[in-house]
Amino acid sequence: MNPISAAVIQTRLAAVHEQIAVACQRCGRDPASVDLVAVCKTASAAAVQQAAEAGQYLFGENRVQEAAWKQSQLPTMVPPLRWHLIGPLQRNKVKQALSLFDVIHSVDSLALAEEINRQRAQQSTAPMPVLIQVNIGREPQKHGLMPEAAMECITAMAQLPHIAIGGLMAIPPFHHDPEQVRPWFRQLADLSSQISSQAERLQLARVTMRQLSMGMSHDFTVAIEEGATLVRVGTAIFAPESLPPC
Ligand SMILES: *Cc1c(COP(=O)(O)O)cnc(C)c1O
Repeated sequence: MNPISAAVIQTRLAAVHEQIAVACQRCGRDPASVDLVAVCKTASAAAVQQAAEAGQYLFGENRVQEAAWKQSQLPTMVPPLRWHLIGPLQRNKVKQALSLFDVIHSVDSLALAEEINRQRAQQSTAPMPVLIQVNIGREPQKHGLMPEAAMECITAMAQLPHIAIGGLMAIPPFHHDPEQVRPWFRQLADLSSQISSQAERLQLARVTMRQLSMGMSHDFTVAIEEGATLVRVGTAIFAPESLPPC
């Protein structure tokens, strides 16, 4: 892996925070309502440590093994780092994932939710925070529930006592022009409010729909304007110095 200097990581993190602040100002949101998930799947443990030393404590990984290895390479940080799983999760990796991650963004089937519920019951009395991944653009190669299936599936998942459903996540169709992605972000936000009202009607205690995980390096400012509370930014922070960050 291509090393990046601590100074570059610090500068890029500051630039991303500045863009978050500007986007929030544009749409009248409090910047504290948006959390930056630094996606470190292409970064070394050393780069993660440098980001943490620059004040970044929330990281996203898309693979369980990679997170296990990277976490084992890192010293104990204060405050402790928080890790979100943003990639697909196989059922046989659930147990390990629960010991590595604070939130799983990629729950997209009842069977997976049931396995998380079962394993969590043996590890903790607190329910596991999860987000439900929606295939908002209905792309055949992508993971996630179809939008029209989300409500029914979440209603079923809400019966599982050891998971807490905190919101939705999506990876919309890619466009260089982030304005082309805006309608997908808006659809995810709309779906989230529909599910939220339904959850209230049905008094589903463990469904809150507070989080919207959407937006990556090239489109996170548009995602924020459409209501993102978790933006998953990798390249803009960790791209090798020989490449433009996005
Ligand atoms: C890699 C990845 C990201 C970050 O993408 P960048 O374009 O590098 O910012 C966000 N979300 C998911 C699910 C990813 O796999």
